[in-house]
Amino acid sequence: MFFILIRIPALLRLIWASPNSMLGLVCGLLGLLTGGGMQLRRGCLEFYGGLVSWALARTPISAAAMTLGHTILGRDPLALECSREHEHVHVRQYARWGPLFLPAYLGASFFLWLNGRHPYWDNPFEREAYNTQPLNRRSDG
Ligand SMILES: [Zn+2]
Repeated sequence: MFFILIRIPALLRLIWASPNSMLGLVCGLLGLLTGGGMQLRRGCLEFYGGLVSWALARTPISAAAMTLGHTILGRDPLALECSREHEHVHVRQYARWGPLFLPAYLGASFFLWLNGRHPYWDNPFEREAYNTQPLNRRSDG
């Protein structure tokens, strides 16, 4: 019985975040098809290399890693290692916000930009992640 009480919330968090995870899976599969790799770490699928690296390098902040639900996209295994703690703050945010996370994140960025603030560094989701788990190196997404 105790096992069920623990597992049901975890399953609900996975389901609630799954639309974002599906988007991450599509990106990750594109990375695999273009020479990238995949690993399972701490309950998340991590993708790196190939098209994933190419796309991350072309984000406005030249991100080393980016989270989509329970998937984490990284430029390479070292980037994933260095940003894992930070990205898992985002994983928990996705678990709280579910399909509302991306609209809330992007909406906050747009609102900040309209008000002359930085859409990434001032974003409350990033501020929570940096306050909880600063990155070891590079920037993330
Ligand atoms: Zn972040």
